[in-house]
Amino acid sequence: MPDYDVIIRNGTLVMPNGELRADLAAADGQIAAIAPELAGGARETIDAAGLHVLPGVIDAHVHFNEPGRAEWEGIASGTRALVAGGTTAFFDMPLNAHPPTLDAASFDLKLAAMRASALADFALWGGLTPDNLDTLGELAERGVIGFKAFMSNSGIDDFHAADDLTLYEGMRRAARLGRIVAVHAESDALTAALARRALAEGRVGVRDYLASRPVVAELEAIGRAILYAGETGCALHIVHVSSGRGVALVAEARARGVDVSCETCAHYLALTDEDAERIGALAKCAPPLRGRDEQAALWQQLLDGTLPMVTSDHSPAPASMKTGDDFFKIWGGISGCQSLLAVLLTEGHARRRLPLATVAASTAGYVAQRFGLAPRKGRIAEGADADLALVDMRQRYRLDAADLQYRHRHSPYVGREFHGRVVRTLLRGATIFRDGRAVAAKPAGQLLTP
Ligand code: ZN
Repeated sequence: MPDYDVIIRNGTLVMPNGELRADLAAADGQIAAIAPELAGGARETIDAAGLHVLPGVIDAHVHFNEPGRAEWEGIASGTRALVAGGTTAFFDMPLNAHPPTLDAASFDLKLAAMRASALADFALWGGLTPDNLDTLGELAERGVIGFKAFMSNSGIDDFHAADDLTLYEGMRRAARLGRIVAVHAESDALTAALARRALAEGRVGVRDYLASRPVVAELEAIGRAILYAGETGCALHIVHVSSGRGVALVAEARARGVDVSCETCAHYLALTDEDAERIGALAKCAPPLRGRDEQAALWQQLLDGTLPMVTSDHSPAPASMKTGDDFFKIWGGISGCQSLLAVLLTEGHARRRLPLATVAASTAGYVAQRFGLAPRKGRIAEGADADLALVDMRQRYRLDAADLQYRHRHSPYVGREFHGRVVRTLLRGATIFRDGRAVAAKPAGQLLTP
């Protein structure tokens, strides 16, 4: 009987407090030992000489559209893309699948779809809308990771924005249920009125769209959500913050004791408003891409620790929905979950000296902590799940559409040069991606609950 299931030898482990040259052994899905020149045998030995071993990415924000709109993405293709990018766990948003996840029955439908196809572990967000205040309890019982609300139009008819009273009362209930509330923070009053004005004047180009969702709309909504969180005692998470000033608002509230966190997305770190003009429809998202000054602020905040989390907000759609002259009508969502870690390794580590330990914290360690999955998930340590991404930082490549695992092979990152290739991904000690291919024997993703 070998001592371990797998030993990874000679790699550079990216630990919470820095890098360590050591071997890592896993048994029964967990990290069993970490030491230089580890004694003992294993059923499988992986030579990681020259490679970095990172904790598998936990992408807290994706939309996989299944059930109901699997023709947009689907769990099989979506999770193939995740594992190709070194991601071993993801949180699926409650909207853009149909039915949206608003009660126990819709949760069960999505859970069954996930169990049938997910290659990575997953958590499910429930929705917080004017239609389902009374089913938050059953969603919490089922094990949602938290509740997601929109403070502006969600872009899809079957998931309604939370008006102020819904948000306030929903947060009171979520606080009692011990669940976090995540908000899309953009002022509906400002964005809707600016959009109406632009449309009335026939201004429907990319710059008109960007101007209809100014940073002030994000700041106003973040401020209001923070106020409600303070008043209700609810834990609050602001998704996809696009501006340095937005991150600063959150940090300031946290410093005075409000239980609030935020994430930005890889696209706000990698792309600007100029890229939106150049790339067009594939780069449409909400909040929109910002100017260089906001992007520089986000990088600074990631470097100094003010900004703790990065997600993909993978929000795919068929090519037919990502084209057209009226920028307001184009689907707002970026296909990018396969490139989340790649953006941080390239734009962060290689270009801006972002330590790999910070890359790991912002994509795994902090995510697990914030959403109640630590200490099992999110870090390389004995006793944690052996969820790992093996990365060859010596490799550079240009992302080709053919490399994408998405159902629809488009992304604003196509054509971009990346540093650091994910050569292998392990989920609970089992290799699920290797040499460019998903290799899991069967979908083994498990539900994660806080
Ligand atoms: Zn989203």
